[in-house]
Order: sequence, then C-alpha cells, then structure tokens
Amino acid sequence: MSLDVGVIGVGMIGQDHIRRLTHVLSGARVVAVTDSDLDRARTVADDLPGATVHGSGQELIDDPAVAAVLVTSWGPTHEEYVLAAIAAGKQVFVEKPLATTREACERIIDAEVAAGRRLVQVGFMRRYDPQYRAMKAVVTSGEIGVPLVVHAAHRNASVPDHYTADMVINDTVVHDVDTTRWLLDDEIVAVTVLKPRVSGRAAPGFQDPLVVLLETASGVLVDVEASVNVAYGYDIRGEILGEQGTVELSESAGAVVKTAGRVAGRVPVDWRERFERAFDVEFQEWVNAVRVGGPTGPSSWDGYAATVVCDAGAASLASGSREAVVLRDKPDLYKDA
Ligand code: NAP
Repeated sequence: MSLDVGVIGVGMIGQDHIRRLTHVLSGARVVAVTDSDLDRARTVADDLPGATVHGSGQELIDDPAVAAVLVTSWGPTHEEYVLAAIAAGKQVFVEKPLATTREACERIIDAEVAAGRRLVQVGFMRRYDPQYRAMKAVVTSGEIGVPLVVHAAHRNASVPDHYTADMVINDTVVHDVDTTRWLLDDEIVAVTVLKPRVSGRAAPGFQDPLVVLLETASGVLVDVEASVNVAYGYDIRGEILGEQGTVELSESAGAVVKTAGRVAGRVPVDWRERFERAFDVEFQEWVNAVRVGGPTGPSSWDGYAATVVCDAGAASLASGSREAVVLRDKPDLYKDA
C-alpha cells in the first residue's frame, strides 16, 4: 500500500518534491495539498488525480486520508505544522529549518519525546548524496585515522538581491553545520565568523564571502568558506584530514574531457543540479522507513542542533567574537540516531 502524503506549501521546493513523489519514486502518492496561495495549490492539484485542496495546514493534517505530512512552507511556519502533525500522531517530513528559533525547536523535541517515538525527519539532504556518503564511509572505516581538521567550501554562482550575510549562515552554511555533525559524529561547541575582503560582485553592504570556523566537542576545527557570488557555478567542496590520511569529496558526477593539453568538466549550475540524486534518495528512504515503522534520517535533535549553531553563527557575525554553542541534554529518543 502506498504512503498517502499531504503537502503544506507548494512553492518552489514543494512542487519539486511533489514531482519526485509522483513521478520518480515508488511507494508514495500525494493526496492533499495546501498553500497560503490557494490558487497556486489548486493549480498544483490539477496535475494530481484525486488530490484534495485544503484551506489550511491544520485542515490538511486533520484529513484522515493523509497518512504523512510534508512541510515545505516558509521556515517560520514550520513549528506550527510540525507540532500539529505530532499531535495528530502523523509522520512529518519538514524541509530545513526544523524551526527558526531554539525555543521552537525545543517545543518540537518536547512534543516528540512525549509522543514516545520518532515522528519527525528534517530535510538535510546532503546525508543522502553519494559523494558525501562515500566520504562518511571512509571516516567511519578508520582508514584515515582520527579526524583533525576539515576544510569545506560552499559556493553559489549568485543569490537574490534580498540575500543577507545572516541568510548565508542560516540558509547556506546550515548544510555544512549538519554535514560536520554527521560526518564526524560530534557536536559543534563554538562558532567564529571571519570576514575576508568583500567581493566586488556582492550587493552594496553585503559581506561576501564569509569564513565560518566551527569547533567540535572532540577538538576538530572546521573551516567553511561560504561565497555566494562566485559567478562560475555551484561548487561544494570538502576535505577531512585525519591522523593517517585524508579524504576529499569527489567532484560532482559527469564526464571529464581531456583535449589539447586541457582538462574540462561540468560545474553544476545550482544546488538542484548538484543534489538532485540526494533529494531522490532522501525521499525514497523516508517513504520506505515510514511505511515500516518510523524515520531513520535527520531527527528533531539534528534540526535543533543546526538551529542553535546557526544562532551562534549569527551572533558571531554581529559581535566579531567566538560564540559558544550550548545544547540541552540529548533525550534518549535521539541517542541511537
Ligand atoms: P517558496 O518558493 O517561497 O515556497 C513556500 C510556499 O509556502 C509558498 O507557496 C508560500 O506561499 C507558502 N506558504 C507560506 N506560508 C504558508 C503557510 N503558513 N501555510 C501554507 N503555505 C505557506 O520557498 P521554497 O524555496 O520552496 O522553500 C520552502 C522551504 O524549503 C524553506 O524552509 C526552505 O529553507 C526550504 N528549502 C530547503 C532546501 C534544501 O536544500 N534542503 C532548498 C530550498 C528550500 P506565498 O508565496 O504566498 O508566501
């Protein structure tokens, strides 16, 4: 039997996930949609035979035909819908962020712990990318020894005019925060944001690039260069130096052409191209897991930790100082994850 999914927020990524669930993956179908723009919701539903358009997210969650909920609305609305899904006892996949404040994330954790089982998965899709998974397998195998230093880069060709340095932390570097925690199986305990020379391509007053220094509990230092006006494409890099060797994130898949003494290959145009496979695997694994019990991917705890680290990053951006990250005690529900 397929997993019947209701989608809250059918903007850019909501529509892409609906396409994925409907045409690419197996075992799920979209049976209901809603959006603050109901005309947009109706247009999307026109391509989904039998799907219901609901007037609000709460109405969709209450619909008995909806077995699981996908939240792809604007970040500040996530808390309300995730809490409502937990209250209804329904599985919920929420795009990042889990919620936009530490307190909101804690309310979600408290509700899920009270429910006594995992109901929430957060959309940190890099954990499903084949290249990141290959890197994680090398670290876990012990082949490079104990990790010491991580170098990472997150480069976008360009960003919309309204993008700010705070958004670089919350919407861009948040992925590097999650991959750091996941690759190293370690919590981040401090953040320092450094401000290099400003790119002439950045909008006036916009500090771009940033270098974000993360410190982990076991003492690993992680430097993340975030540059969002590089013009040449979308470029995600990573290297972990261990005591006995190093592992690098391979360049994105694609042909490498060597002619006339030169090497050429494709640079992805944006994050959709670079992580398309990761999104597909992420959702197929979520559907498969939910159909047999519960989610196994990024948890409310992971969403909470990412938000708290990004808050410290935003504080460091403003203060120019090293900011400590203080997490609450980890509930047992998340200890095996
Ligand atoms: P978007 O294009 O603006 O879509 C959001 C949609 O939700 C819009 O249709 C919006 O309607 C609707 N909406 C807003 N408030 C709502 C509410 N209270 N109830 C129902 N619908 C509501 O944004 P997006 O780029 O798809 O991003 C959506 C989420 O996905 C964000 O949290 C974002 O961070 C996340 N995201 C994650 C990744 C990733 O790499 N994992 C990539 C992209 C986006 P209006 O336009 O009328 O406001």
